[in-house]
Amino acid sequence: MTVEPLSVDTDPQAYVALHDLLDEPAADAGLTDRELELRRLARDVVAHRVAPHAAELDASHAFAHESVQALAAADLCGLVFPRELGGTADSNVAYAVVMEEVTAGCAATSLVFMTQMHAAYPIMLAGDDALRHKYIPGLLDGSSYGSLAITEPDAGSDVSSLSTTASPSADGWRINGQKTFITTGDRADVIVCFATVDRSLGRKGITAFVVEGAWNGVGRGQPFEKMGMHGSSTAELFFEDVDVPRTNLLGTEGNGWAVVMGSVVKSRISAAAQGVGLARAAYARTLATLTRMHGNRLPDHLTFALADLRGRILQGRLLLHAVARQVDRDPEVTAGQIGMMKQSCTDLGFAVAIEATRILGPHGDLTALGVERCLRDAKVTQLYDGTNEIQRLLIGREITRALEAR
Ligand SMILES: Cc1cc2nc3c(=O)[nH]c(=O)nc-3n(C[C@H](O)[C@H](O)[C@H](O)COP(=O)(O)OP(=O)(O)OC[C@H]3O[C@@H](n4cnc5c(N)ncnc54)[C@H](O)[C@@H]3O)c2cc1C
Repeated sequence: MTVEPLSVDTDPQAYVALHDLLDEPAADAGLTDRELELRRLARDVVAHRVAPHAAELDASHAFAHESVQALAAADLCGLVFPRELGGTADSNVAYAVVMEEVTAGCAATSLVFMTQMHAAYPIMLAGDDALRHKYIPGLLDGSSYGSLAITEPDAGSDVSSLSTTASPSADGWRINGQKTFITTGDRADVIVCFATVDRSLGRKGITAFVVEGAWNGVGRGQPFEKMGMHGSSTAELFFEDVDVPRTNLLGTEGNGWAVVMGSVVKSRISAAAQGVGLARAAYARTLATLTRMHGNRLPDHLTFALADLRGRILQGRLLLHAVARQVDRDPEVTAGQIGMMKQSCTDLGFAVAIEATRILGPHGDLTALGVERCLRDAKVTQLYDGTNEIQRLLIGREITRALEAR
């Protein structure tokens, strides 16, 4: 049996029409005109240049280069960065809205897209003017690729135990060690690498560096074969006597923990927006499949199931926007607040994708309809950017602190 692809995958107008139908006035009421304008722009670019390639990237595991370039060409890769660095000085809410759009069209593209930001953001946070101007504009205009390299074979959730070392050298630092599960690691031109200057210092020894992918001693593994997000590469990075000039120290020696913590505020907005975007993608694909099967008047048992999902997606979007707005107003927002958003929204993406496959029955299993892709991609969002267990840990600590402070 040949299953025709959904029209939303082949016809940009059908894509836009379906996704316009899924906008929720209750969530839109909190958005500014600029944020709504950016959503329109992102949806158009995604419909024409990103979504039509999503299934092919999933099947071929090819890197989403063209899709990311299309987003960069539309000036969407520098939303929260200042204009002098090539950004557009927009809000975190705008970023969340655009991330949801990109993810709804192609989650793998959204992972590369967000990683550009995750590499550029610590440089903006802790780098001096020279470092910012040297590396950030290229990451935002797509002329260079970036990675954020924290995780190691024996350190991920527990960042303080990382063992990549940075030792003083004549002109700066010499880095030795290994990173793993690094998004875009196989091709990154700019690597924000976290190393320890002294393991016995724990968190206080962690220090951040900007390392160029072309420097001597930087090695890369083959991209991993993975469950989801196939258009985004995940790879090991090896550092063997990599000489890093003093100028490429990010911030000061020993302040890497603060850089990590400052950066995860933004990165967890990304993952949360992916959760909402994948929930919406699964819902949209289910709706498109059901109307192909039944026409526009769906039986009650189907509209009941859809009603439940629609309400849950709206709740997730409202939470995403609320926390992103809170970050816009107060960058010191707590890890627990961020954690509730990341955990809830990524759990939502997975739960909606599971429910979508149930509603569709065997059609949920068909690659051509793309719901199974949403399910695989959504699962991955629960595993990175601080696993959802780690988010619960952070939320739990704040509960305990609040109780003890009574
Ligand atoms: C597709 C993908 C892309 C990624 N991209 C990047 C990247 O670009 N840069 C980067 O640095 N990393 C990246 N990662 C790595 C990811 O962030 C880590 O794998 C993740 O943070 C978990 O850390 P870990 O590998 O040490 O796992 P572990 O900490 O060993 O986790 C294993 C399990 O134990 C649980 N667990 C661990 N500690 C606790 C605890 N205290 N309480 C309860 N449960 C706990 C975890 O929740 C998980 O279920 C990526 C991972 C994936 C899958």
